[in-house]
Amino acid sequence: MVALVGAGPGDPGLITRLGAELLAQADLVLYDRLVSPEILELAQIARSMVCVDQLPGCHPDRIGAIGKAMVEAAQNGLRVVRLKGGDPILFGRCLEEVEPLIEQGISYQIVPGVTAALGAAAFAGIPVTDRRLASAVALITGHENPTKTDGNLDWQALARFPGTLVFYMAMARLENMTNRLMGHGKSPDTPACIIAQATLPSQRVLVTTLGELVAKARAADLRPPAICMVGPVVDCRATMNWFDRRPLYGKRVLTCRPNVPEEKFGNSLVNRLRAMGASARNIPTLEIVPTAEIGLPGLSQDSSPQWDWLVFSSQPGVQSFFAQLHQLGLDSRVLAGAQVAAVGEQTARALAQHGIRADCTNPGGNAESLAKQLLDKVQGRAVLLVRADRGREVLAQTLQPVCRLVEWIAYRQVNRLALNATEQAWLDEGPLDAVLLTSGNIASALAEVLPPHQVEAIQAGKTAVYSLSPVTSESIKKLGWPIAGEAKEPSMAQLAEVVQKGLASS
Ligand code: SAH
Repeated sequence: MVALVGAGPGDPGLITRLGAELLAQADLVLYDRLVSPEILELAQIARSMVCVDQLPGCHPDRIGAIGKAMVEAAQNGLRVVRLKGGDPILFGRCLEEVEPLIEQGISYQIVPGVTAALGAAAFAGIPVTDRRLASAVALITGHENPTKTDGNLDWQALARFPGTLVFYMAMARLENMTNRLMGHGKSPDTPACIIAQATLPSQRVLVTTLGELVAKARAADLRPPAICMVGPVVDCRATMNWFDRRPLYGKRVLTCRPNVPEEKFGNSLVNRLRAMGASARNIPTLEIVPTAEIGLPGLSQDSSPQWDWLVFSSQPGVQSFFAQLHQLGLDSRVLAGAQVAAVGEQTARALAQHGIRADCTNPGGNAESLAKQLLDKVQGRAVLLVRADRGREVLAQTLQPVCRLVEWIAYRQVNRLALNATEQAWLDEGPLDAVLLTSGNIASALAEVLPPHQVEAIQAGKTAVYSLSPVTSESIKKLGWPIAGEAKEPSMAQLAEVVQKGLASS
């Protein structure tokens, strides 16, 4: 089975749900060079990810090589995703790619994506139609088959077209395009713009007129990919622009959350920052490795568990505990007789996902405040503390003297030794405005993998460090790093907020 999937123009959120689901299931992903690394990360089980530019025999024309690779893989029973920039059926040579599949009787599906014109227009704040200004849109390629001398565009018709013109692949032939439009009577005063790197944090928009487009574009040194839009709707940007007006627009922000499921979707810290306009990237400095041993202290198959209280110190601990139960052929009913405590909101939420409501928790709290709450409750009781290998000792030390405490190391935190190529490339793109740190272990692991000049920028206060909590700040200070701000309460929402306040005023 083969799926041709549109990846959208750049922003990783713009792939469709169906596209993301197919990617998560794919064995082989063949992707266009421009597809963002975050979208590629959605592929979970793919054994092979190949950029189509790298396929053997892909030059001078890669279509043959792509068809061959798709046919071979599909015939071997692999699920193939051909991941294409924007929408697959627009300027994507879709039919040519599908033909070998049809010839070989291989089934396929085509999943649309947000095309560059519409992604760019939305992110630049330009309505491609407007009741008063444009009732039609033309999507045009500026770069036709190079063997044709003048292509088959009817420039006279385009010059007269009563609506918005959007040119793809136009940058190399901008002069030809503007001359032809004006030569056929289109006014040089017609509003025109170029939108480069649309929908990405590096998006740039040049607004001018048709007559001045070539000179202005040359001076602006815009980076591809770019589209060109011509028509009166372009002027609406002055009113409707939203992208550049967000509080963290133009800021580069690094977060270092471990790769736990919660951080991959929806409300993750990095998504919050992106919603505020930042160019944000999460680079985990720690890996969470669930415990390999089978068995839980105080639990045997034939007797009910020996715990009066279960205390969960973190969200990965919860996941690891239930994974362990699952492996033992058990489920949450083993908790029936026990009381349950959770440090902080995220941990309590993780428990709730398994149908368990914590009896004792401290929303936004830390280990100290939970330990205090528990002191009376656990007197003389059997307590299982589910924790990380390098977690803080506060809970264990506080509870130990008053109860029968057994600790279970649910997962280990392992420092990353090196960054991968896409993480490194992102760091190399330029200086960082801020780094957000959510634990001392994460901070010291970052100090080991960050390039030295970026560590120096942190030490010098040029890159602002924001911390999740007073405990985290203490550890960061031990690295000699100044702290620009600390979350009012230890939650991702509060951390994002303090960064917004700090950077917006800088
Ligand atoms: N199938 C794609 C288009 C492929 S042609 C789609 O539907 O979008 C490649 C051209 O798309 C580029 O030359 C450029 O004109 C445009 N393009 C793709 N991504 C873009 C982006 N992020 N910003 C601006 N233009 C983009």
